[in-house]
Amino acid sequence: MKITSVRAVQPSAEGSPQDWRTWLGQILVIIETDDGLTGYGVGGGGPAGIQVVETALRHILLGQSAEDIDSLWDEMYWRTLPYGQKGIAIMAISGVDLALWDLRAKRAEKPLANILSDEIQPTVPAYCTGRPVEEWLNNGTEGYTMLKLHLGAEPGERDVTKELVDSVIDGVRKVRDTLGPDVTIMGDAFMSLDVDSTLRIADELSDVNLGWIEEPLLPDDLEGYARLRDECPIPIAGGEHEYTAASFEHLMKERLHAIVQPDVCWCGGMTELLKVYKLGEQYGVDVCPHRGSEIWSLHAICALDPKPLAESGRPWMTWVKDRPEIVNGEITLGDGVGFGVRFEESDINAK
Ligand SMILES: [Mg+2]
Repeated sequence: MKITSVRAVQPSAEGSPQDWRTWLGQILVIIETDDGLTGYGVGGGGPAGIQVVETALRHILLGQSAEDIDSLWDEMYWRTLPYGQKGIAIMAISGVDLALWDLRAKRAEKPLANILSDEIQPTVPAYCTGRPVEEWLNNGTEGYTMLKLHLGAEPGERDVTKELVDSVIDGVRKVRDTLGPDVTIMGDAFMSLDVDSTLRIADELSDVNLGWIEEPLLPDDLEGYARLRDECPIPIAGGEHEYTAASFEHLMKERLHAIVQPDVCWCGGMTELLKVYKLGEQYGVDVCPHRGSEIWSLHAICALDPKPLAESGRPWMTWVKDRPEIVNGEITLGDGVGFGVRFEESDINAK
């Protein structure tokens, strides 16, 4: 099955935050083959990601066998390496890679999870992220037994002040006091803390039983993460802004994160996520994909994850149709072939 067409578009996503998540947000990659199949994958990078697909990746793919995913991945990586390795080029490759995996499963007429494993867990636990403290205090758990609170400044803000850390500690404590001891609470700082403030939060919340502290530091602050590995009593999670299995291997080998959180639409696609799962087994590090209830990771979680846990998805990704929803803190994979989702022509062709 030869690749006959490669396209990428950025469907509009109402409610998407007015920052890079819109301007350089998720793109849909569409690959057609000469046996009449169409594969869909989601990558990132917005118009810049589309430019990478159209100028650098398309000519590598056209006329090639869609089955040669590994060699196509290597070629795409090698050809984009001078300006790629991390960020937008790998985000674009991720969308292509996922479309090729969608084609592989569609050719076999199976859900992708059934290609990845003979034994799948169709229903897995899910946790809620992105809900402000006030909503948890006012509305209760709404069926969730696991949730994640934002632990720092708003994305893009970098000042770590005593007032900010005080308010973080206060918010987490209030949620614990309101929801009781049986709910698992994690925290996500979105890179907005430093080593000292992270250690202060861990110390002052030692009785609150936080499940993990996620992305307290910038991804490149490996020295800082080594200090937290040695000094922080709460497990450190991270990796949604890390790229390729090779980078994850370094994090795992040095035990810089207790839980790694690759985003399959950014880190290199299913090809790299599968390697990260293997590395997790090898190094004894948990893998918990970023926004794992989105369909692009959910198949791997249901097929491969020894401790499956799916993070709630980006609420603005409504252009992915027929995606499973979280119900009472669980999510169930459907039985459609490939990734099992579909797209409206109006979203694909919107300008
Ligand atoms: Mg996060």
